[in-house]
Amino acid sequence: MSDCLFCKIVAGDIPSNKIYEDAHLFAFHDINPQAPVHALVIPKRHIETLDDLTEPDRELAGHLLERTTHIARLLGVAEAGYRTMINTRSDGGQEVYHIHVHILGGKRIGPMVCRQSS
Ligand code: 5GP
Ligand code: ZN
Repeated sequence: MSDCLFCKIVAGDIPSNKIYEDAHLFAFHDINPQAPVHALVIPKRHIETLDDLTEPDRELAGHLLERTTHIARLLGVAEAGYRTMINTRSDGGQEVYHIHVHILGGKRIGPMVCRQSS
């Protein structure tokens, strides 16, 4: 998608701090890290949200998860542990509408807290 930020990162039109790339995936450091390690893993193909995955994307989805564990190992956080997160649409806190897995680590992230605001 031509005006998608993450498609532009995959294309190299917007610079990023690349961690990993293969034929289907791209991983890079988050520009606004929420932990000492904060990486994003994305499919190269533009898919807007987790909810837009369909049956033909099954292999890609498996590859995305398996490579996420590989990238966590590359980043040195696998043994101590890390948080993975996929935010979906507005209530899920998604800001960039190109599916991405967050990897957060390098410190104790602690339990997940969802504050009830309404
Ligand atoms: P979301 O809120 O959609 O789950 O996560 C989007 C993430 O993309 C945020 O953590 C944000 O910091 C990151 N981000 C937004 N723009 C850029 C950018 O231009 N480069 C990089 N590397 N990360 C970005
Ligand atoms: Zn995109």
